[in-house]
Amino acid sequence: MTNFSPNMLKTFETCPQKYLFKYVQKISMPQKSSHFEKGKKIHALANYYLRGDDISKLETALDEDELKIWENLKQNEFFQKTYVASEYNLSCKVGEYWIGGRLDALVKDENYYYILDYKTGQIPKNPEYDFQTMVYLLCASKKFGNNIKFVYIDLKNNQNCVIDFDKDYEKPILEMCNKIKNAKPSVEHSKKCEFCEYRKICI
Ligand code: SF4
Repeated sequence: MTNFSPNMLKTFETCPQKYLFKYVQKISMPQKSSHFEKGKKIHALANYYLRGDDISKLETALDEDELKIWENLKQNEFFQKTYVASEYNLSCKVGEYWIGGRLDALVKDENYYYILDYKTGQIPKNPEYDFQTMVYLLCASKKFGNNIKFVYIDLKNNQNCVIDFDKDYEKPILEMCNKIKNAKPSVEHSKKCEFCEYRKICI
């Protein structure tokens, strides 16, 4: 049975044809990598650091920009809370579907659990209703209770976006899973196609 990740739900919302290419036909297209690589490096470093590994050698391999971002993360008030887990897989059932994904980190204090998501790029435009926020909060709430928050850590601008759990998150997730299940093939080209990595095989 398919386990729907936030990216799968987001991709279908953006374009059902793109979902078909990516997740049904499993065609992967090359994407610009420099920004992606930086994000991967910081995520890996954070994971080792939180697990208690010695990262001193890895830190010396960071360039100036990466080092600044890494320092921002290390000093972040949420990153400094009590460690629970990192690169943590979580899933839950919504209706007949399984949803889930991998959290960057889970930390806690005496009042709340916090799902951390490190962003070297942009935070989603409507973070409260982004599928990543909703899926992770819903899955985590089923395991850890409703005292849970999602924190986007914007490493470029050194600021946080904190979102509370909302029990109504189940509805939009279920609706999107139903849409995917009942989708009929159709291609609608629009402005979004300009930035799509599949445009060469689609248009
Ligand atoms: S080119 Fe346009 S229609 Fe085709 S997959 Fe991309 S966004 Fe969808």
